[in-house]
Amino acid sequence: MRAPEFKRDVKILISLAYYTMRAVFRYSLRLAGRRSAQRLTILYYHGVSPEHRRSFARQVEALNRRAWILPASYRGQLPSGKKCVAITFDDAFVSVAENALPELARYSFHSTIFVPVGWTGRTPGWAMEESEPALAVAANPELTEVVMSSAQLNALNASLVSLGSHSLTHPPITRLDTQWARKEIEDSRRRLAELSGREIIDFSFPYGDHDASAVAMCRAAGYETAYSVTAQEVDTTCPELLRGRTKVEPSDGPIEFFLKFNGAYQWMGDSVPLRKTMRSIFGNQAPGIRVQPH
Ligand SMILES: [Zn+2]
Repeated sequence: MRAPEFKRDVKILISLAYYTMRAVFRYSLRLAGRRSAQRLTILYYHGVSPEHRRSFARQVEALNRRAWILPASYRGQLPSGKKCVAITFDDAFVSVAENALPELARYSFHSTIFVPVGWTGRTPGWAMEESEPALAVAANPELTEVVMSSAQLNALNASLVSLGSHSLTHPPITRLDTQWARKEIEDSRRRLAELSGREIIDFSFPYGDHDASAVAMCRAAGYETAYSVTAQEVDTTCPELLRGRTKVEPSDGPIEFFLKFNGAYQWMGDSVPLRKTMRSIFGNQAPGIRVQPH
């Protein structure tokens, strides 16, 4: 078995154990007459290629059976009865409009698309988001992706699709000086609002790269929610600006996807000892940035 597959299987096993322990804990609470609070799991995809449309559609069907879909920026009490999930897409690729949104529209599912505003209508030219050195160019469908144009963004159904900013040029924000970082955060919001005629309240950090100062800049720029790439079960009654998200791929199998949308990958965000163990075995798996451009 190749190392990336082995690593993926280990993550599934840990998540399964996490999910089981949490289910036992919740059952014990219920026996004691108490309930654990509902949390929102926010998923994030990048592109959805034609080859992956069917597997993506199966994931959407699974969500339809077992989850309520809410906007990622939702605030307030969550409905009970099913798991609460939000769907987001980073990079605003054309393949999402072509292959993902029609499948979500079957169930009137909401999603949020994060636009790298300076790249509209173009092939992405930013550094790779994946840290997998083994990813060959030909095997990476993102390399054939194109960012939606202004016209394509404006053709999206505004009642089902929210637009958020993903910066202007898709840089790692914490590596910029303050003035440049502020420009990426503020100007992208203004330009996306002008381009779309919509109010822009969401910001997704490129590569999930952020610190307290970057979050404060988002608040000052008028965003209501900013998103990282750290798996988190979000308390929607909390005024916190920053929300974590769980990475999903259209190719994720049924068990892996089930565990992800049920928040069972949260251990990767909030359990430092477990992450450290994974890193010592598999190397640094923090959201990585390869420096060579697409
Ligand atoms: Zn991105």
